[in-house]
Amino acid sequence: MKILAVGAHPDDIELGCGGTLALFKNKGHEVYLLVLTSGEASGDPRVREKECAESAGTLCADKLFFGNLPDTMITDGIETIMTIEHFINEIKPDIIFAHSYKDCHQDHRNSGMAVLSAARNVNKVLLYESPAALKDFIPQLFVDVTLTFDIKLEALKAFGSQVSKVYFRGNNIDYKRAKFPQVSNAAEGLARYRGFQAGVNLAEAFEVGKFLLEIEDNISQ
Ligand SMILES: [Zn+2]
Repeated sequence: MKILAVGAHPDDIELGCGGTLALFKNKGHEVYLLVLTSGEASGDPRVREKECAESAGTLCADKLFFGNLPDTMITDGIETIMTIEHFINEIKPDIIFAHSYKDCHQDHRNSGMAVLSAARNVNKVLLYESPAALKDFIPQLFVDVTLTFDIKLEALKAFGSQVSKVYFRGNNIDYKRAKFPQVSNAAEGLARYRGFQAGVNLAEAFEVGKFLLEIEDNISQ
C-alpha cells in the first residue's frame, strides 16, 4: 500500500503518527511525507527542513515533500486544498494520515480540514493527535506501535531546534544542556495511555476521517 502523511510543520507527522508510519515501512509499504510549511515561524526554515529530512530518513520514508505554504497562515481554503491535491494525484495513496481538526493550532486545524476536502477520492483518512489537540479529540482507532516506538523517538530527536518546546523537554528542566531533545516523557506518556486504552503496551490513536472497511474472503474455510 501507499501511505501519505500530511503535517503542517516539521515534527507534526512524527509526533502524531511516527510509530505507525515506521510500522508500515517495517511491513514493506511505501510511506510518503508532505510537510505543508517549512516551520519558519519557529526557527530557520533551512534548519527545520534539514531536521525534517533527517527524521524522514530515520523513519525510512520513501520521499519527503514540502508544500511551501506560509507558517501560521495555513487556511482550509482552495490554495491549501490544491497543494494537497497535487501530491495526492502524484502519489495516489491508499491511506492518508492528517491532523485532527480538533486542534488549538490554526495550521493544524485548517490543514486537517483541507486534507478531508482534498481526499474526496481516497477512502481511508485517519486523523492524528498533536500536543495541541483539544479535549474533544476522540480516540477511535488505535495502532499498536510497541515494536516501532523506539524509531519514533529516534526520529523526534532530529528536531533539535525545537528542544525548548514543552512537549519535547517533558520534565527535564535542564533541557538546554541535553544533547538531544528529551522527548520520552511526553511522547511516551501519551503512547502508554493510548496503549492502556487499546489493551496494548504502546499505541498511537486516531480519529476516523473516513474508513472504507474492505472484507476479504474467508480463506480458513
Ligand atoms: Zn505543528
